[in-house]
Formats: sequence, C-alpha cells, structure tokens
Amino acid sequence: MSLVVVGSMAFDAIETPFGKSDKIIGGAGTYIAWCASNFTPVKQISVVGGDFPQSELDALTARGVTLEGVQVKKDEKTFFWSGRYHMDMNTRDTLDTQLNVLANFEPVVPESYQDCEFLMLGNLLPSVQRSVIEQLKTRPKLIVMDTMNFWMEVAMDELKKTLAMVDVLMVNDSEARQLSGEFSLVKAAAVIEKMGPHFVIIKKGEHGALLFHENKVFFAPALPLEDVFDPTGAGDTFAGGFIGHLAKTRDISFENMKTAIILGSAMASFCVEKFGTQRLREIGKSDIDARLEQFVQLVNFDIDLV
Ligand code: AMP
Repeated sequence: MSLVVVGSMAFDAIETPFGKSDKIIGGAGTYIAWCASNFTPVKQISVVGGDFPQSELDALTARGVTLEGVQVKKDEKTFFWSGRYHMDMNTRDTLDTQLNVLANFEPVVPESYQDCEFLMLGNLLPSVQRSVIEQLKTRPKLIVMDTMNFWMEVAMDELKKTLAMVDVLMVNDSEARQLSGEFSLVKAAAVIEKMGPHFVIIKKGEHGALLFHENKVFFAPALPLEDVFDPTGAGDTFAGGFIGHLAKTRDISFENMKTAIILGSAMASFCVEKFGTQRLREIGKSDIDARLEQFVQLVNFDIDLV
C-alpha cells in the first residue's frame, strides 16, 4: 500500500522584501515529496524538462521517492513560476507562470503505483489531477486535493469536476472565499463540502489552519517565528506533512486529521526558514520531534470553568 503524490516540479524565482532568489528548484510536488518522505515512502507523478537537474531527481530518489511516474521531456522546458511577496509575507503576486512541459502533460500512472492507498493531488491542472484518479483501478482510501486561485480563474469547470471526486480539499482563505462566494470561512467550508469533499482545510498562512468536517471544526496555529525568509511551498509542505502522517498511521478519522494538521503546520514552519526546499533537506526526525514539542507548548493550557 502506498502514498502517491501528483504535483508540479518547477523552477521558481522568488522576491521577498528581504531578499531575492535566482532560479531555484520548486514546485508543489517537489515540496510535498521532500516533506512527506519524512513519514512514508512516496511514489511521485510529475513532468520536468531536459533542463531539470538530474542531481535533484537523484536527491529525491535517495529520500525514498520513487520517480517512475515522473516524465522527463528532454527537448522541453520545466514549468517556471515567479512571485513577489508583500511586506506581510502572507500575500504575494504571481509575476510569471510559464507552463512549458505542464501545458501538454498527460500523466501515466505506472502499474507499480496501483497499490495507492493515499493520493495527494498537489497543485496542478485539475484535469491532470482527475486523470490520475481515473487511472487508478481501485479508489484510494483517501484523496486529498490542493489547488489555487490560478486554476479557479482559468479552469473553474474542470476544477469543480475534480473536486466532486475527492475527500479533502485544501485551499487558503482567499481561495475558499473565491470558490464558495462566501466571506465567512465557516459558510465557505459548508458550501465547499456540498461540492464533494467531506473535509475542508482552510490555510491562513501565519495565522494557522482550520479543519472543517460537518459541524466540527479544529484549529491548528502556525508557529510564531522570529524570521520568515520565504513562504513559498509552505502550503505544499503542510500538505506533505498532513498526508504523510495519515499514510503512515493509515487512520483517516477526524481525530487523526487533527494530529495531521499539527504535523503539517510543524513541517511548514521549517519550510519558511530558508529559501526554496533548502531547510526541508536539512531536517530529520529529531528536529521534527522538537518542533512538535514546541507546538504542544504553544497551545497547552489548563482552564477551570467557574
Ligand atoms: P505554495 O507556496 O505552497 O502555494 O506553492 C508554491 C509552489 O507552487 C511553487 O514552488 C510553484 O512552483 C508552484 N506553483 C505556482 N503556480 C503553480 C501552478 N499554476 N500550477 C502548479 N504549480 C504552481
């Protein structure tokens, strides 16, 4: 039984009020794989161009990420995204999106991925996400989908079709409002639950994340950090921690999802500490355990009701 991850693998160029990166390795699928591989082996589906460094692919393989489902289009260019963060480091403008190899990407699910029990649909064309679901002969135990405003603007109908087939949707607060047409996040989650997913996770950047399921709600804070260098990939890293924990424990109850969003938040807090995937490459189990302890301290209190 396995965790299959679908998502972009990319070159990013990032500007923050405090610094600027050259073209660095990014992509939703890349962040998810680096993060989730801390918890469980990953089978990756994506596409890159001939310009994507072989050393990056080798580094993922060494982490326990199977790349049989990653197509390398030798004569084409890798997906490129560039963004600039505002002073609050929570909001950003996309400066450039060059789909390149992603434009005509037709994923092929290898036979060895058919044991997929957990499927993480990272941010990608909704039609590609759906194609992966349709190629799996047995429906996974849990399908989690991430998406973004870009796809709501250019492919809303496709997005809604895919949404109808998943169990969990993860979006940020502005995307939840855009998708539902509701300002209240409680109402937005209820509207989105009617579109298909029984669980809705709304990420609020440095203000944490909310998990909605029917009339239940749970909140996970983000760790207050002294310095945030680059929030890029935080959402994907959150997704990697969330699905990584669920796949490792094979428990998809609401109670276990609560733990999973704390894990997601803890992993995201590492991601933002350095540019790109750099910090995720450095950390191991002891760092993760220490950070989880900080989360426990952050929200732990006793109260006597009088
Ligand atoms: P996040 O900061 O978690 O929202 O994810 C940022 C990552 O998403 C970057 O590394 C980008 O390469 C990738 N990305 C940005 N736009 C898109 C898009 N339209 N489709 C797929 N991946 C994207």
